[in-house]
Amino acid sequence: MDYLFQNATVLTMCDERPVLQNGFVGVTGGKIVFVGEAAPQEPATRTLNCEGKFLLPGLVNAHAHTAMCVMRGYADDYTLQTWLYEKVFPVEARLDEQAIVAGAQLGFAEMLRTGTTSASDMYFREPAVAALALECGMRVSLSNAVLALDPASYDPEKDRAIAETRALIRDFHGAGNGRIRADAAIHAEYTSNSPVWRYVTDLALAHGLVMHVHVSETKREHEECLARRGVTPTRALYDAGVFEARVLAAHGVWLTEEDMELFAQSHASVAHCPVSNLKLGSGIARVAEMKRLGVNVALGTDGCCSNNTHNLFEEIKLAALLQKGVSGDPTCLSAYDALKMATVGGAKAQGRENEIGKIQEGFDADLILIDTNTPTLRPVYDPISTTVYSASGEDVCLTMVQGKILYENGQFTTIDVEKAIYEVEQYAVPLVRGCATKD
Ligand SMILES: [Zn+2]
Repeated sequence: MDYLFQNATVLTMCDERPVLQNGFVGVTGGKIVFVGEAAPQEPATRTLNCEGKFLLPGLVNAHAHTAMCVMRGYADDYTLQTWLYEKVFPVEARLDEQAIVAGAQLGFAEMLRTGTTSASDMYFREPAVAALALECGMRVSLSNAVLALDPASYDPEKDRAIAETRALIRDFHGAGNGRIRADAAIHAEYTSNSPVWRYVTDLALAHGLVMHVHVSETKREHEECLARRGVTPTRALYDAGVFEARVLAAHGVWLTEEDMELFAQSHASVAHCPVSNLKLGSGIARVAEMKRLGVNVALGTDGCCSNNTHNLFEEIKLAALLQKGVSGDPTCLSAYDALKMATVGGAKAQGRENEIGKIQEGFDADLILIDTNTPTLRPVYDPISTTVYSASGEDVCLTMVQGKILYENGQFTTIDVEKAIYEVEQYAVPLVRGCATKD
């Protein structure tokens, strides 16, 4: 076999046996080929001694706008309306492909550094981001969100988002042994209308794509939809047939119980983004209620301009704490439930539940190691509790995607991080500041 992780505390995320003490995990040809408590017969090309380390499935970031890390810290402490319309949209109009690829490269490096191996990324110029992800080894589900701010004049055949989605499907869907996927995406209920939703849904259904969409992020969005259409954003999208595709909805902060039931019935997923929702003052999604009603919940960071990191460990801990604090019931969402949202739940949201999210034979070898040989993580009574409540992305010492080590002990194997930072600062930051123009 290619790699053998030996004597690891293995957090399998399989309900039958979530933790293996002194476990052995073998990897060959990008797949997990052995999981057990005794060494396999077959020798390995490289054996990693994992004493004092936790081996986990790589984390899944189910809602990101990765290239927005060029705006990290650029527009903090604004209301969502001001933030979006006065700060973000004008900058995004200035960002070109070079800036977006530079931002995505830095964002992928940050994700790999902090244990995320798979991301659902909704942004622009995604074919170029797909080429980058293919090269640097990251697992991604990419979408170009459709906006139709002037529905009367909207023509899907002239929309760059549709053209880029088609290019993604043609050139990258399934590339890298399934590592790269195209998703369909509608930006949100309030930025388009039902003929557009139908068009994008048909595209998703024709190619078996996940449908990524922002839903009920703010109270204002939710109430304006009720005033405009007489129904919630979820109901409006549902009635237009959007949920015929496999929906991955970001936020869901203001979902009603009926909305949640529609999600559960449709096997749709919510990407809970607690840091972004708190920072923009959007509210706290009722995750414990969603889970009680059978909705699959994943975790996302959202864009780095409303977070301001891609460190999913923050979302995991906060997701658990918020539900306890809001409900007054510390038992309503356990550490294990929170960690499942970042692994199994994320995999399901991406339509990859038979591919990633667990340490199980036959699954792709997307793995991370957490080094507990540090004062902040000892002693360990319960490895799941330690991971959720004490660990941080900085404790990740190795990240592997599809059997390839992409980060280990401070070194990236496929990304030149100094160059990535240089390109962002020299090229993208002047565009963000508005003191340079694109060609
Ligand atoms: Zn978003």
